[in-house]
Amino acid sequence: MIEKLKRAISEYMPEADFNLLEKAFTFASNAHFCQTRATGEPYVNHCFEVAMILTELRLDVSTICAALLHDIIEDTLVVREELKEEFGEEITALIEGVTKINKYKYEDQLTAQAENWRKMLLAVVKDTRVIIIKLADRLHNMRTIKYLTPDKQKKIAQETLTLYTPFAHRLGIYMWKGELEDLTFEILEPEKYNEIRIKWQLRSENNMKNLANVESQINEKLGSAEIPFRILARPKNLYGIYKKMQRQEKPFSSIQDLFGMRIITDTEEHCYQILSIVQSEFEIVENSFTDYIAVPKNNMYQSIHTTVVGDNGIIVEVQIRTEDMHKRAEYGIAAHWRYKESFDKKNAATSKTVDTESHLEFIKHILESKDSDEFLTAIKTECNFEQIYVATPKGRVIKLPEGSTALDFAYAVHSDIGDTCMGVKVDGKIVSLDYKLTTGQTCEVLTRKNIKPTEHWLDIVVTAQAKSRIRKYLRENKNKR
Ligand code: MN
Repeated sequence: MIEKLKRAISEYMPEADFNLLEKAFTFASNAHFCQTRATGEPYVNHCFEVAMILTELRLDVSTICAALLHDIIEDTLVVREELKEEFGEEITALIEGVTKINKYKYEDQLTAQAENWRKMLLAVVKDTRVIIIKLADRLHNMRTIKYLTPDKQKKIAQETLTLYTPFAHRLGIYMWKGELEDLTFEILEPEKYNEIRIKWQLRSENNMKNLANVESQINEKLGSAEIPFRILARPKNLYGIYKKMQRQEKPFSSIQDLFGMRIITDTEEHCYQILSIVQSEFEIVENSFTDYIAVPKNNMYQSIHTTVVGDNGIIVEVQIRTEDMHKRAEYGIAAHWRYKESFDKKNAATSKTVDTESHLEFIKHILESKDSDEFLTAIKTECNFEQIYVATPKGRVIKLPEGSTALDFAYAVHSDIGDTCMGVKVDGKIVSLDYKLTTGQTCEVLTRKNIKPTEHWLDIVVTAQAKSRIRKYLRENKNKR
């Protein structure tokens, strides 16, 4: 197991601390020694599986170690002090966070309460990685739920659907969300589930040849255009089909776009080239074209969607995207960061350590935000992954998204400094507040007490932090002006 785990991690983090990982694994095996799961296998298998699930998101070693040890406090005699001594504060805090979540028993099954419950959870949990570990834990528990009594299965499935799938959705981890939904669907509505599953299977078997023809047509055309690509079948989401039937009040037989394929390529430009090839090769279903590359969804999802008609009238939804967009579509922004990091390693001379903390901080911000407009701008800004690094006169390095202005810098230093910012000296010269910063500059903020944020400042700043602080100030001082 440990070798398998090490291999999975080394794919995205070759220089990870594998000794620490081995230590955590041995520690978990010893602590859970003699314990078995309802499946009959050793308990440590569960810890291993949860850790493996998290490698899909390319998470850091601390998170993986915490995953291996996540049930230690609750289920064994090991205490906090011992963990802290062996693994340090960060990992211990993560484990404690997961333990804390388990203590909040979600008794009230009302959906209306679920949102409050999730909010409370976010308030209590300081580190978003705790929630991601908990999601992976729940995913593995759902995969093995068949071994519990029917009553318990129903209770856990209901809880998963109302509490945990929304987290997966919000984080954009669609791989987990889809699986969690289907696993709970099967338990909560077994008849509906089986009906749709059987019908879906029949329809796929009947259409196997037509589907293969569409694929080989695309293969042939793109192959001769010398565009790099790979084709993936879209995984089925039975719960999604069921929801669609309910929404459109239609029977299964009239649901059309059950089949899909994804064409993954390297660049945005190639996405559009592929689109035009697909469009010239197939008959296109009217109004089926949506360009989520030009206009991304709220959670940064990007792809081009178009629906084509193949042999014998088979209808196939084609999604075209880059590898980068694909990663984000499957595992959300949580994975995207790390994905980008491992690619950017060579040019990231400025960032010696992987800045996991600030990106998790941002994910938390997303989870907590209420205002959808603010939410959208926040994501759009912060997901511009190009970062710049500027220093204060004292040598503190501040990381900002590319395009940040002098005023953004002032707010990044401290919100009070931002609020009273009169000007900024960049490398010794005074610049205007809307001056765009670049990496390596040294910035000194000049403040004056009688300076106050104005409406206009909102147009100057690009970071979510500065924007929300200025808005807050304007809101609170509305009547005074
Ligand atoms: Mn567990």
